[in-house]
Amino acid sequence: MTVLLLSQSTLTKMQQHYANYLKAKPPMHSLFCAVYHGTTITAYSSGKVLFQGKDAEQEAALWQTLTQKPLTTSSLPANFQHLSVMGSDEVGTGSYFGSLVVCAAFVEKTQLDELKRLGVQDSKQLTDTRIKQLAQQLKECIPYHIINVLPQKYNAVQPTMSQGKMKAELHNHALMLLLKKIAPLKPEAILIDQFELPSTYYKHIQDKQVQIKENVYFATKGESHHLAVAAASIIARATFLETLAELSQKAQCILPSGAHQAVDNIAAQLIHQHGLDYLNQFAKLHFANTQKAIYLEKEL
Ligand code: MG
Repeated sequence: MTVLLLSQSTLTKMQQHYANYLKAKPPMHSLFCAVYHGTTITAYSSGKVLFQGKDAEQEAALWQTLTQKPLTTSSLPANFQHLSVMGSDEVGTGSYFGSLVVCAAFVEKTQLDELKRLGVQDSKQLTDTRIKQLAQQLKECIPYHIINVLPQKYNAVQPTMSQGKMKAELHNHALMLLLKKIAPLKPEAILIDQFELPSTYYKHIQDKQVQIKENVYFATKGESHHLAVAAASIIARATFLETLAELSQKAQCILPSGAHQAVDNIAAQLIHQHGLDYLNQFAKLHFANTQKAIYLEKEL
């Protein structure tokens, strides 16, 4: 078990982060309690947070680093944004419906101005329509590699693999394939949009034959440090949206992204019409939404 003392703002962030994994009945006097991939996280209003389970230390490390020693980017070279960089990012990890997409993209320093002119920026600030347009333009001018894990595949792998490990393996794989694609050209640096501690990331891929490690940097909000991450993020997001649209067509109803309550209602409808197995091709079944939908379906 690992115990941390965290600030109120971190507690709020944590509660949002684990929103899909919260226990309906947290222990007495606790603020919230979540079970996330086998780790039980119990928070108290005093700021005390308990992490229990075999991966407790790793899970706690993320929050510890975030609060006590912010994931700084001071380790990035000073002129980082002007280098030729390969970046990677993922989309869909928090969405019940739809795939998990990881994209790696390579932006040479000579293309930075062109990408700026196109309007490449943080994908969270762009509308879905704009993201699709930009992704199309980017695909025509930079090398990239997309891995799109459809729900069926995700559900087949997920029971034996944490989402963190899955993401790490996908980033590593996408980077490896893109490095092959651009060879003999080499990026001056690789930037992974950070989703966990580098030590955890490398632990996740330690059994892989090829581990991309040379000149690799990690930074949260990676898109603000280099356009390569922004570009990867835009292409990944566009792929996620396209897939979600295709799945919606197949299901003959609009499948929204996210994991909010409307999602539970739609999942309940699908179970009601076609049975629980039907969801396997549309949704990430280990999310708490599945249990909520099963419960809601009984009322239909
Ligand atoms: Mg990211």
